[in-house]
Amino acid sequence: MTRRRLLGTLGFAAFAALVVAMVTLVPMQDYTMHILVQTATFAIAVFGLTVVLGLCGQINLAQAAFFGFGAYAVGLGTATLHLNFWVALVMGAGVAVVMGAVLGMTTLRLGGHYLAMVTISFQQIVTLIMVNWIPVTRGPDGVGGIERPALFQSSQAFLGVCVFAMALVGYIVWHLPNTRLGRAMRAVRDNELAAGVAGVNVYKVKVAAFALSAVLGGIGGGLFAGGFSYVSPDQFSFAESIVFITMTLLGGVSSPIGALIGTALLIVLPESLRFMKSVPGLYLAIYGLAIILIIRYMQDGIWGFVQDRVRRLLPPPPFAGAPADLVVTPPRTQSSANEPPVLEVQHLAKHFGGVKAVDDISFAVRRGSVHALIGPNGSGKTTTLNVLSGIYTATAGRVLLGGSDITALPAHARTVAGLGRTFQNIRLFRSMSALENVVIGAEQGGHHAEVDHAALVERARAALAFVGLEARCHQLVTGFSYGHQRLIEIARALAGEPTLLLLDEPAAGLNSSEKLGLLELLQRIAAKGLTILIIDHDMTLVTKVAQHITVLNFGRCIADGVAAEVLRQPDVIAAYLGSEPDAPAFT
Ligand code: ADP
Ligand code: MG
Repeated sequence: MTRRRLLGTLGFAAFAALVVAMVTLVPMQDYTMHILVQTATFAIAVFGLTVVLGLCGQINLAQAAFFGFGAYAVGLGTATLHLNFWVALVMGAGVAVVMGAVLGMTTLRLGGHYLAMVTISFQQIVTLIMVNWIPVTRGPDGVGGIERPALFQSSQAFLGVCVFAMALVGYIVWHLPNTRLGRAMRAVRDNELAAGVAGVNVYKVKVAAFALSAVLGGIGGGLFAGGFSYVSPDQFSFAESIVFITMTLLGGVSSPIGALIGTALLIVLPESLRFMKSVPGLYLAIYGLAIILIIRYMQDGIWGFVQDRVRRLLPPPPFAGAPADLVVTPPRTQSSANEPPVLEVQHLAKHFGGVKAVDDISFAVRRGSVHALIGPNGSGKTTTLNVLSGIYTATAGRVLLGGSDITALPAHARTVAGLGRTFQNIRLFRSMSALENVVIGAEQGGHHAEVDHAALVERARAALAFVGLEARCHQLVTGFSYGHQRLIEIARALAGEPTLLLLDEPAAGLNSSEKLGLLELLQRIAAKGLTILIIDHDMTLVTKVAQHITVLNFGRCIADGVAAEVLRQPDVIAAYLGSEPDAPAFT
């Protein structure tokens, strides 16, 4: 794998060197040169959108503003302050990354539409400043007389610089999806909640994506200013931000190749249609129609469409060796007889306004046991699990994991501390293969941060083999049956090497043979000594695996103890069978 990667890198470097040499040495008209400079510098900014929108799923409608920061830093830096070009470029990138990070940190806790609105407003503010702060920005007249670096004075030499920068940035963005950070970004894009529970620090990853996108905007803009020697506010308006987004979507949002295709098309297409000038507006109409058709029929953009066909024709090769046996329980740090329970829930409450979904419940889960949490629909079981795993903050009470208080920790930190969970409604990373899903669990789950990638993949394979799906590990998760998707979710949680596994209704929606398979899987997990807290309605399943049962009703704990005894208690029977007139229905 590393050898393949080395060969790939060398091949790409040779190809990039050839292209740079060609654009620098082959004689060309000024017009062609302009188009190429524009394509290369725009592409760098569009690579930024590949990261933030394509990989991380966050909208940024202000990329032209970040592009403008770079362009104005180089423009004002070289023309007004007479700074060296490179110094000005670094300053521009610096301003862009700081603004990007600040904008991201203040707004990324907001979701989709809000983020879109905030970035649009930011874009408008930047445009207003460029136009109106005349003493500094020179206002609507723009900035002329922009200098280039001493070694690259000619337009064509500078074009070589732009193409080189584009190749370098493109290479980095190409590899990003297969790094720890890149996988975390994809997980956030596919399913934020599941990403957090798999151990991804969602907020940090989003801010990183946003800052990275901004800095690429700044670099692209700085080079753009050098290429054209003149910049003005209208080049960095909201309309340009939309052009950047369209370029990203048109070519294919998740790859720099798509970004480059989209950028080149949207620059070359209008230019090449200009010969139709005799009918005013006709070229614009054709251009618009072409974009509508491409986006309508290739939803993943042009490159996404090609990639999909290639993936179908050339699936990744199966692994050579047999998968290893999964190590389920991490080594115990202490083994004294009076060690604390794995989980202690003390007077826990969660209220939603007036709804007391969970109201003062307490129970403890012993190490190595299977503990069931049961109760009628709406009794607060899922809410309890959500508070335990950090998706909701507790209204009152404490949660101790292995004796240490985790009540205030965010979801990803609880995963690192040893919690693993699955969801009542399956939450997988839907654009990824089964293996990639489980690799994220293994990688972000804490114990393996420093382990190399091959070891992570092996661990993920072992987890998939443990649930019986290793043979299909390269298939997209969306191609699996519902029951198998549940198993992949369990494998993802197991791969994070939890000390406590939380399962929310794993048998829901399974047919009877799948239920038998699940029962057998749970027994194998339990036999390995992993502690499980399971919610389920299937009493046959619960009585077969659980030694201990806690019963909730209306958010309160109505029974807690050894399974057989709890199930004999009259109030438990009443809650379940509905012998009381106002008892909730059991489904
Ligand atoms: P269970 O998993 O036991 O079926 P839940 O924990 O999902 O029950 O729900 C318990 C109660 O809390 C229900 O009355 C439900 O309507 C309410 N509830 C759950 N989540 C929320 C929420 N996010 N906002 C308001 N009410 C909620
Ligand atoms: Mg539930």
